[in-house]
Amino acid sequence: METTTTTTKTCSKCGQELPLTSFYPKKRAKDGLQYWCKECQGKRSKEYYKAKTITPPHSELSNPELASLQPREIIAQIKTLIKELRARGYNYEGKLTYLQEIKL
Ligand SMILES: [Zn+2]
Repeated sequence: METTTTTTKTCSKCGQELPLTSFYPKKRAKDGLQYWCKECQGKRSKEYYKAKTITPPHSELSNPELASLQPREIIAQIKTLIKELRARGYNYEGKLTYLQEIKL
């Protein structure tokens, strides 16, 4: 039994000819459907999710030089920097609030 192109679509990822119900709708596409079947899309978003969860939150904001340091080491660096600023004549008296809470 032959299937017509109107009822099936070939997934551009896995190459399988599948019924149109196996594809999610996509407004901008010519035929109104995604290029990949639901299964391939699902796999892809799982992989994407996995990749996202491996990456620590706010990684794009973190300083690569400090990323490998432990919180204690970073605090130690901050203290060193404050000492350096004081040595240069900067006065933080009454202006800098230093709050520290580290759970290890
Ligand atoms: Zn597929």
